[in-house]
Amino acid sequence: MKYDAIIVGAGFSGAVIAERLASQLDYKVLIIEKRNHIAGNCYDYAHTSGIRVHKYGPHLFHTNNESVWKYLSLFTEWSPYRHKVRGYVDEKYIPIPFNLKSLALTLPDSYQNLKRLLIDTYGYGSRVSICELLEAKNPELNKLANFVYEKVFVGYTVKQWGVAPEQLSQEVLKRVPVVISEEDGYFADKYQAMPIGGYSSLIESILSHKNIEIELDQDAHSLIEFDVKARKAKFSQKAGVIIYTGAVDELFSFKFGELDYRSLTFKLEEHSQEFYQPATTVNYPGNEKHTRTTEFKYIDNTSSDSTVIVKEFPQQYKRGVEGRDIPYYPLFDKKNEAIYLDYANHAKQFDNLFLAGRLAKFKYFNMDEAVQNALETSEQIIKQATA
Ligand code: UDP
Repeated sequence: MKYDAIIVGAGFSGAVIAERLASQLDYKVLIIEKRNHIAGNCYDYAHTSGIRVHKYGPHLFHTNNESVWKYLSLFTEWSPYRHKVRGYVDEKYIPIPFNLKSLALTLPDSYQNLKRLLIDTYGYGSRVSICELLEAKNPELNKLANFVYEKVFVGYTVKQWGVAPEQLSQEVLKRVPVVISEEDGYFADKYQAMPIGGYSSLIESILSHKNIEIELDQDAHSLIEFDVKARKAKFSQKAGVIIYTGAVDELFSFKFGELDYRSLTFKLEEHSQEFYQPATTVNYPGNEKHTRTTEFKYIDNTSSDSTVIVKEFPQQYKRGVEGRDIPYYPLFDKKNEAIYLDYANHAKQFDNLFLAGRLAKFKYFNMDEAVQNALETSEQIIKQATA
């Protein structure tokens, strides 16, 4: 057997597991990646303007997880970066998450009264989910909650997910709180930074171990077979461990039905001006077809005569249809969560098969959570190998 581990996918999850198995078990690892580059959806590159662009949408690193921060810091240096988002609401740019400044901009007449009510009820500095705010008994707070819900969440969510917010798991909306202060950073984590040199270079550094080989432009699905009796997943007849980070319904040939994902189309524009918009990202909860616009110049502070922005147009994922065939987000509703459970249980039959990452776990992992999940999966494999 030439390889001890086969890993499908060279994104954050696959890279971290490859590095751990290579360095901790001295495993020979082969990564099979269907794209022509590493780094998965974190992939970034230098645009002709010199500005680093995130090909598959903006990736902003933030974490409270000390071990993830320590681990990634073995492979990169960081440049501090606090992400700022504005929402284009009633022809004004308001801070997102909706905070006291957003309140002053959108409801100036009732600002003083509502501010006092919010502080008295939730405490200054608190971060309240819109779901919790909508349950407010006080009629004025309840009216405010509905105002924020309508202005900030409903339109954006329907565009992003193609379903009404009520159909989605509440965890999705809970990612973006209402903030009872003037604090206008998008995230509240202890560590907020961008890898110097970018994500592609960070992943390259993680993958630089001598035991790791990578095959690009290769679809692994037809190479994996399952032997229920032997409880093994097999890769071209070899039976080391297999770590799969792709879409789990595809791994099992859709035997329990297709899972739904949301896809995106990105429209990149270069503009001959210093800056295009007032913050890195502007969210559009209104009638525009796109959900958000991100201006990369704010992220890496490149000096350039022009600026580069990307507009995101969400759409339903359709397998095999060009332009719609990248699954970015699992659709977190009851139907899909039930189908996913069937796949997850089925996967447990194969002792040498491990699922990791946002697609294979069908979870809304941020990058740090994907790394944490990958570190845990590695520990599990190491434990099994050394038992
Ligand atoms: N959301 C919203 N309006 C906003 C920002 C977020 O309705 O201005 C909702 C929307 O459903 C979105 C979810 O909150 O998909 C999570 O937002 P986040 O910014 O975390 O999305 P991501 O960056 O992962 O696409």
